Amino acid sequence: MSTSEQRAPGAPAPAGFTPLCVPEIRGNEWAYIKDCLDTGWVSSVGAYVDRFERAVADAVGARYAVATTTGTAALHVALLLAGVERDDEVLTSTLTFIAPANAIRYVGAWPVFIDAEPGTWQMDPQKVTDFLERGCEWRDGALRNRATGRRVRAIIPVHILGHPVDTDPVLDVARKFGLTVIEDATESLGARYRGRPVGHLGDMACFSFNGNKLLTTGGGGMLVTDDEALAKRARYLTTQAKDDPVEYEHHEVGYNYRLTNLQAAMGVAQMEQLDAYVAAKRRIASTYAEALGEIPGLTIMPEASWAWSTFWMYTVLVDADTFGIGSRELLKTLERARIQTRPLWQPLHRSPAHRGAFAVDCSTAEDLHRRALSLPCSVGLTPESQREVIDQVTRLAARTVP
Ligand SMILES: *Cc1c(COP(=O)(O)O)cnc(C)c1O
Repeated sequence: MSTSEQRAPGAPAPAGFTPLCVPEIRGNEWAYIKDCLDTGWVSSVGAYVDRFERAVADAVGARYAVATTTGTAALHVALLLAGVERDDEVLTSTLTFIAPANAIRYVGAWPVFIDAEPGTWQMDPQKVTDFLERGCEWRDGALRNRATGRRVRAIIPVHILGHPVDTDPVLDVARKFGLTVIEDATESLGARYRGRPVGHLGDMACFSFNGNKLLTTGGGGMLVTDDEALAKRARYLTTQAKDDPVEYEHHEVGYNYRLTNLQAAMGVAQMEQLDAYVAAKRRIASTYAEALGEIPGLTIMPEASWAWSTFWMYTVLVDADTFGIGSRELLKTLERARIQTRPLWQPLHRSPAHRGAFAVDCSTAEDLHRRALSLPCSVGLTPESQREVIDQVTRLAARTVP
């Protein structure tokens, strides 16, 4: 967007403007951060780091959690832990924010982009299976992509927008072919799949606490796993692979990926609000669903029968022919009413940053990308502001229906 209303995530909104999604800070953030300042425990060691890790591990029912500077850093480390190497391939969703594909490139590997499925907009498990069973072959003791000859090592299903991927079929086929499953759960903390918490489905999972996520530490991430050896190694790699803290001996090249105690203090306060924030998001979603569900040409955000969605980013599909205008024109019209909306990400198989990657047929993701528009859905969105968004959309629909 080319207006002055383009804002960094987390920046305060000007009056009379309804932002897409901003952080909600209303609990113990001030007290806990002040505690860090008062005690001098501000850096990458401290009680809040431990408490934050425990809180996230407990929330997803995992045994271990390792805090990182960002969700992208957590994904990078997870790929290293999975043993993914240069010129290997890793399956991931095409319809997602770019971070998982970038992390795959950080280890020199290549993404294989998988289409979304039309019912939930998530990674299509059938297309994962089809690719592995028909698009790959065993050669020289390794599973290889027939088209590229590269070795396939792992799958990163991305639970987008607060809704889980249909993960069981992905886990089944991964087990069959010996692939590691790393959940990108960065958009879906608090969601559940068939009653199980998202982030506790595969071998490892990554969360993000960036400014636009459900909970934020300004910037931050977390790697969770039940595997003690992986957790230990994650801690090692995120602290510059330090082997002797006195003599500064390092046996490997590590990373400076540890979260600070200051940020973790904010994280602990945010985690105390997780259930309340999910409830707020679900309330916003059901209000939208009730008000917009009957409008011809609008498809409201799905929730599968087996899913408990956080509706992190409330998104609708706009059918230009029936609704009267398309998603991008709706964006511009709402912008004039000082309401901020956003399309979804350019599907990654179309991204110039990832040309050279292999992709299966991704026509569903392309169709979703054309039609999708995310509506204001901050945890703190007032009923009045939401009513205003609904009224604007409803008025447009009324005007365009013959
Ligand atoms: C936000 C996000 C990440 C990682 O986020 P950071 O900004 O690095 O914390 C990774 N994957 C997806 C799908 C995301 O939306």
